Amino acid sequence: MSLAFDDYGRPYIILRDQGQKKRMKGLEAYKSNILAAKAVANTLSSSLGPKGMDKMLVSPDGDVSVTNDGATIVEKMEIQHPTAKLLVELSQSQDAEIGDGTTGVVVLAGKLLEQALTLLDKGIHPLKISDGFDRACDVAIKHLETISEEIDIQANEHEALIQAACTALGSKVVSKRKRELGKIAVTAVLDVADLARRDVNLDLIKIQTKTGGSVEDTRLISGILIDKDMSHPQMPKEVKEAKICLLTCPFEPPKPKTKHNINISSAEDYKKLYLQEQQYFVDMVKLVKDSGANIALCQWGFDDEANHLLLQNELPAVRWVSGTDVELIAMATGARIIPRFQEITPEKLGKAGSVKEVQFGTSNERMLVIENCQCTKAVTILIRGGSQMIVDEAKRSIHDAICVIRNLIKDNRIVYGGGSAELACAIQVLQYADEVSSVEQYAIRSFADALEGIPNCLADNCGLNPITSVAQAKSRQLQENNPRIGIDCMELGTTDMKEQRIYETLSSKKQQIQLATQVVKMILKIDDVIAPDDY
Ligand code: ADP
Ligand code: MG
Repeated sequence: MSLAFDDYGRPYIILRDQGQKKRMKGLEAYKSNILAAKAVANTLSSSLGPKGMDKMLVSPDGDVSVTNDGATIVEKMEIQHPTAKLLVELSQSQDAEIGDGTTGVVVLAGKLLEQALTLLDKGIHPLKISDGFDRACDVAIKHLETISEEIDIQANEHEALIQAACTALGSKVVSKRKRELGKIAVTAVLDVADLARRDVNLDLIKIQTKTGGSVEDTRLISGILIDKDMSHPQMPKEVKEAKICLLTCPFEPPKPKTKHNINISSAEDYKKLYLQEQQYFVDMVKLVKDSGANIALCQWGFDDEANHLLLQNELPAVRWVSGTDVELIAMATGARIIPRFQEITPEKLGKAGSVKEVQFGTSNERMLVIENCQCTKAVTILIRGGSQMIVDEAKRSIHDAICVIRNLIKDNRIVYGGGSAELACAIQVLQYADEVSSVEQYAIRSFADALEGIPNCLADNCGLNPITSVAQAKSRQLQENNPRIGIDCMELGTTDMKEQRIYETLSSKKQQIQLATQVVKMILKIDDVIAPDDY
């Protein structure tokens, strides 16, 4: 600190180190990064598996959510540390690409980092560790492919798909209803799937939540369900052979801009202006009706006066349709989104068999269903549940299940869960380690240990002794040459995951191992952290 004087002789203080950056280098940097990332992974590890715990997350403004979904947990944790953030992104990329396995991927990355830390302590160079992990990852992926099995998605009323959905739902809050929800998810995906091209457009499955009732009341609605009703109670409750005009402009006369002045000097002039405004609106309704439309869906609102005019002119209308709904309706009914009234033409209307109001439960709340859309089939899963927390978590869980089914339609190969696939890979990687004579051997062995961490974690979470259960499973895998032996989390009396029918997609497992390895390699490459001092 030193004292100086400015041009006018006023004293000021110079703080010498202000703005200086905090800097960590070398081993210190590696370790600090690894520890931060590991802390995140440790938080998630208790959530893995069918008996995994849920987390309650409270946002800064007090919203509470309870979830078991890895991607959601890390997203809501509001992590600051830059390397720990890499794990958040890891979970999110698994979510974006695969949809399920978002906890597992972070836990695996955590186990790998733990191993890396011990290797660093042994004095092995980070690049060697990185190389070893990379080679081990290749071996594990290849082995996964050899132990994968193809399933017949059609057989037995899509039983395999339902089972896979059940595995995904089994670890969630809604696990009690996994079979029913699994079936709903399978039907929804198959309804919109293009089996010939092995493709599913998930945008066509709308998941709508509505609190009330219970999770059992969740159902599949063929058509698009929107949480809106007709803008006026006296409008018809059903429009058959609907020709939909989809508007994204407000259905109201243009308001005079505030910066213009209108001088009205007499009551007559005022009336004229009023009539003119009304006429303007009547013209708008006429434009819509002339195009042949018999219902207007509007992204914006209209006032009571306008609503009344719509009723008088017998044009049923819906206001405040959300942007995503507008897009979905456009896709399904073939409607073009119309941004200006002047652009309405008959070709731009969407067509649907019917648009009708339906009522749920005993409450007075109504929703609109658009059925038999002309272009593509779209379906809605209406999730019910006692509270917002439950329906939100159910929505996330069903999303996981839907993704699993979509992945199986794209690629029908599965591996078995319960940690069996990871264990089988660990055994293979360990064998490979013995063939490597360089220092990478240690890293490869550690990779195998990290893979074993998954069954270990599953056993731990369901109250089994992790060391004995993993040891038993491993020796049985070796003795019986059976890669399907895992952890009997539900205590059903068998550790053969094929008998328990715990199906996981090959694509998800592969992605988990690859992504986790990639992130760990990335963290191991960072040897210098330069950050503002208050970090
Ligand atoms: P993720 O977000 O990674 O999907 P989950 O909480 O869904 O995390 O847990 C998935 C893990 O739990 C997988 O390793 C899977 O094999 C395992 N698992 C799921 N159901 C069972 C079960 N019934 N018995 C044993 N393991 C299971
Ligand atoms: Mg899961």
